[in-house]
Amino acid sequence: MHRRTMGHRPVHSQFVTRLCAMVLTLITATLSYANDPDSAPQVQITLAHGLKLRGPVLLHNTDTVVIEIDGFPYGIGYQQMESRAAYRVKKEILAHDRGDDRLNGSDQFELAVLAERHGLYRHAMRSYAQAARLDPELSGASKSALKKLRASRKKPKLAENPPYTAEKPAFPQHEKRTAQTDVDEIVAGYKRVAAQVASSAQVSMRLIETEHFLIWTDFATAEHERLGVWCESMYARLSTWFGIPEPPADAPSTSVFLGKCPIFCLRSRKHFERVARVLDDYDAGGALGYTSMSSNGHVHVVVYRQGGSPAGIDGFAATLIHEGAHAFLHRYRRIQHIPNWLNEGLADYVAESILDDRCAHGETSQATAEAVVRGGYNISTIFSDVGPLDPQFYAVAHSLVRYLFDRDREAVVKLVDSIKSGTDVEAGLKEHFGLTFATLELEWRKTHGGDAVFNDDAVFNDDSAFNDDAVFER
Ligand SMILES: [Zn+2]
Repeated sequence: MHRRTMGHRPVHSQFVTRLCAMVLTLITATLSYANDPDSAPQVQITLAHGLKLRGPVLLHNTDTVVIEIDGFPYGIGYQQMESRAAYRVKKEILAHDRGDDRLNGSDQFELAVLAERHGLYRHAMRSYAQAARLDPELSGASKSALKKLRASRKKPKLAENPPYTAEKPAFPQHEKRTAQTDVDEIVAGYKRVAAQVASSAQVSMRLIETEHFLIWTDFATAEHERLGVWCESMYARLSTWFGIPEPPADAPSTSVFLGKCPIFCLRSRKHFERVARVLDDYDAGGALGYTSMSSNGHVHVVVYRQGGSPAGIDGFAATLIHEGAHAFLHRYRRIQHIPNWLNEGLADYVAESILDDRCAHGETSQATAEAVVRGGYNISTIFSDVGPLDPQFYAVAHSLVRYLFDRDREAVVKLVDSIKSGTDVEAGLKEHFGLTFATLELEWRKTHGGDAVFNDDAVFNDDSAFNDDAVFER
């Protein structure tokens, strides 16, 4: 954990001060410029897939920066940034917060941790050394981090697997089964297509076959196992929430997929673009991954990894689970459009729930929600569901979905079920949560410190009164 201290204090009170500073950090982990926008630093962020964004910083914390883009807060985890950009942005923001002072020991330590996560080992070593020099209290931690880093550089080691929670699906309520012969035929068909893709795209891929997935990858063999673990963890988690049973050993498949879901995991943007072009004639520019969903029921996922650093791998895992969740939800019960804010929010929420502190989505959505509420930004366009949701809104969508899950997980399942049976999303919200879009927004704002006046009588009324944005503008 990084710590912040301010000003000069007598030595004897340093320990107490440090404790206070740590407590303060926990309480106000997010630094805000919302009350004084003129003092906000401007930063330029390069996302992992190359897109550049520039804007004033509204909030930031250890994991996330929220900048304003086109009049709306855009939360970006350092994990989602190109490595050097992540380091530069963190350094600029720390330096800005220090005012005229140079970076202190805890700043250097924070920078070192970020650099190490992003595979910038020389930067990390330099910053750990600086931290040890500048702050006697961080000397021990910095030196041991430095030693560990040097040792690990001699013998490259993969980042540890995330914990695999093997959940047992709980509520059997499957709708249809695919006969085993059909499953075999479909899987054989997928394998034929993948072989053609590998040859046309000139990407050498190995197949990892798990219970629900056919994963083709050009990753190193040592990394194969966890690809399966991530995919099956996603399947297990969604099955538990949404009630897809495990297929009995001797029975036809009850998998949510047609047989199995093909997933292509690639280790470079070049391979990703080639596979996307051959397989889907899809220009995948500006994406880290995508899910193809056909009306005939076939789904597949293509994702790539931006570098092999721990941050790159964690970011990849989050994208893999996010896209896999889209594939699952597309096929769940029946093929029916799930409104984009709900779909994207669910996909990020699933990734966060599986990867936990290896995923920055939770911190990013929390910080973005705070920025939106403190700044009084209007979120009504998120619900409009016209075209794909702008990535800028994913963090708020995630936060809204988290609010719904916290309120009533089973009602979220009922909401998705009702959408799948053709019910309008707002009608579903009203039936299962007693909320309209407007009252959902109000309740959600309250959980982030919003002080909007809320009229209890209105909750169950017809929504016509809530359609006017002006009523709820802050
Ligand atoms: Zn998505």
